[in-house]
Amino acid sequence: MSKVDLIQLVKEKVQSLKAYHVENVDCEIKLHANENSFPPPPEILKQFEEAFKSTELNRYPDPDCSALKQTLSRRLNVTPENLAIGNGSDELIQILLQIFCDPGEIVGFPDPTFAMYAIIAQGMGLKSQTHPLDEQWDFKAEPFLETLNTSQAKIAFISYPNNPTGNCFSAGEVQKVIENFSGIVVLDEAYHDFARKSFISELPRHNNLIILRSLSKIGLAALRVGYAVADPLIINQIDKIRLPYNSNTLSQVLTERLLNHFEPVQKQLDALLQERDRMILELSKFGSLTVFPSDANFVLFRVEKDASAVFRQLMDRGILVRDLSRHPRLKNCLRVTIGTPEENQSFLEQIANIIK
Ligand SMILES: *Cc1c(COP(=O)(O)O)cnc(C)c1O
Repeated sequence: MSKVDLIQLVKEKVQSLKAYHVENVDCEIKLHANENSFPPPPEILKQFEEAFKSTELNRYPDPDCSALKQTLSRRLNVTPENLAIGNGSDELIQILLQIFCDPGEIVGFPDPTFAMYAIIAQGMGLKSQTHPLDEQWDFKAEPFLETLNTSQAKIAFISYPNNPTGNCFSAGEVQKVIENFSGIVVLDEAYHDFARKSFISELPRHNNLIILRSLSKIGLAALRVGYAVADPLIINQIDKIRLPYNSNTLSQVLTERLLNHFEPVQKQLDALLQERDRMILELSKFGSLTVFPSDANFVLFRVEKDASAVFRQLMDRGILVRDLSRHPRLKNCLRVTIGTPEENQSFLEQIANIIK
């Protein structure tokens, strides 16, 4: 029998971390994770069933994701050599930090933004350098570049649109960062299908630019598929670092099917965009809410009362949203994902009851 002092064996950096807490309360209406609330449409499910029948579950996946990369390269008008597939784009964020940063080095990003940049960096012994966003949740390139340069950041993350604020930063300022930063610029376009704006066309002119996209927000969160579009030299480094079978067969095959039969999904996304406008309009009618503009499939808003109390009252009524109020810049702020029209209606009715 062994009884060693286990915690003594754990690296100090890991000891001081806390496991990333994901709300997984059994709420009927889940508007907390920016997923697509619509399940895959019947046409797509039929495609999935067909694909499943010819899947060899006893074989390892295609380590190169060739078929999926072919499909993506056609859709994006890039070559397969420009593409890397990740087990979610979260994995690609981790791999990029492994490629470009030694322990103690700096990762730069605006604040507030996607929490995983700092969390993954911390887990790897890297330091985060934040740059405060202005009152409109935007930034100017010059001071941001100054922050990046004085801290000697190796890599900058720009969430575009920005999670959790919802907006796209001024394109001209992002462009200036791409043009003038001599480290790596990662444009995280996880919400691209809702914003319909992208910096992907800048790739041929800037070999230090990396675009990240994800299938999680448009209907396949369960499959964990993200991808990077970048210079082939960067893709080669990703291929050195990633585990050989980081993308499983079902994720590859089903994603390929969905992308090749996208029309019914596009209809869902169009409906979500209409619902986003309606939600913003309806929420803005409550005088006591501050509603921030959104280019994504979620809306950030500030309540006049204690947001955590509102969060709990919504949860008691079966609606899960995201409570962001612990962040010093996001006092009393909640984030709600745009769901189905029925889900959004329930949310609007319940929030009206709670804040009245
Ligand atoms: C959700 C999200 C991701 C993570 O996507 P996965 O592909 O599910 O790992 C990345 N970046 C931002 C800004 C996100 O909101």
